Amino acid sequence: MQFIDLKRQYAALKPAIDARIQRVLDHGQYIMGPEVAELEAALAAFTGRKHAITVASGTEALLIALMALGVQAGDEVITTPFTFVATAEVIVLLGATPVFVDIEPDTCNLDVRQVEARITPRTKAILPVSLYGQVPDMDELLALAARHGLPVVEDAAQSFGARYQGRPSGSFGAFGCTSFFPSKPLGCYGDGGALFTDDDALAQAAREIRVHGQSRRYHHSRLGVGGRMDTLQCAIVLAKLDRFAWELERRQTLGARYTALLSATGLPQTGQLGLPTVRPDRDCVWAQYTVRIPSTRGPGREAVQAALQAQGIPTAVHYPVPLHHQPAYAALCCPECCPESLRAGREVMSLPMGPDLTEEEQGRVVEALRGCLEEAHA
Ligand SMILES: *Cc1c(COP(=O)(O)O)cnc(C)c1O
Repeated sequence: MQFIDLKRQYAALKPAIDARIQRVLDHGQYIMGPEVAELEAALAAFTGRKHAITVASGTEALLIALMALGVQAGDEVITTPFTFVATAEVIVLLGATPVFVDIEPDTCNLDVRQVEARITPRTKAILPVSLYGQVPDMDELLALAARHGLPVVEDAAQSFGARYQGRPSGSFGAFGCTSFFPSKPLGCYGDGGALFTDDDALAQAAREIRVHGQSRRYHHSRLGVGGRMDTLQCAIVLAKLDRFAWELERRQTLGARYTALLSATGLPQTGQLGLPTVRPDRDCVWAQYTVRIPSTRGPGREAVQAALQAQGIPTAVHYPVPLHHQPAYAALCCPECCPESLRAGREVMSLPMGPDLTEEEQGRVVEALRGCLEEAHA
């Protein structure tokens, strides 16, 4: 069993993907070929945004968004420490300081109620993450940000395709930023990403920054990066969009089925297993289906992972150490800060997930997890 099975997806889409790749090889416009604009139009339509700008990766999307907003040395950006490192990395690269706000224990998303207390005159932006594929309390955050005149940038690297009160992830705030890393809900076969915005000036800035700050050939009006997404990767995402609606449905079905099957084991009721929460006004695209193995009861997460691996079931930890405890970032926060992020780092464990996971495989994961937790209890 694969943690995320991309080979099955390719097998299902092979004719479309191969034809798309061949077309790029035939026209030979490997950089900024016609597939780039075609994908940008499709992504803008999908998110309901005026502009979609493809870029070299999700990390690059975040960096370009903050650069377009003018984040610079001395500024502060409020974000969560319980995320992939790229979220905070881009802030530090610009000489600004990430200000870490703790997470809600049930969704593992930024606790929006704790944000206002951390706003200072130096705050330049708020950067929430839609972790595991679920948007955080966006309306509350946008209202708060508007009161303080601050832009919001959504890190939607894990949530492309998710909905919040009917609105798509990526459609909120000054910029939505996503990633097409192969294992994300919508992936390419290398690195890729995109920014979404409704603001013409910000879109123009992002397009210039993507190509070395160039406003016309060899005229560099601002500082930029080499941040384009190549034509082949755009072609691959276009081919995958054909099946994306079906994949989103599969993700909903399998996510709900995991929750039903795991609830039926009785383990959540005894406190040996924590299940992920999805708020009623939104959905989750389950970039990860992440449970908790409380460290105070039972065998502990590492033993559970080893027992599952012995039965051929891969698991992963997203993420073991919050960013304020990482060596490169530890100076930014006190060690006792963000206790819920620290606890989540000790407890979370992601199960095999993806549109091509079968019900039979899912049943085996649940049975194996039940087996090792019950055994430890007995
Ligand atoms: C994957 C990811 C990124 C970075 O995306 P890349 O395309 O790998 O650069 C940023 N933030 C989060 C939350 C991610 O999961």
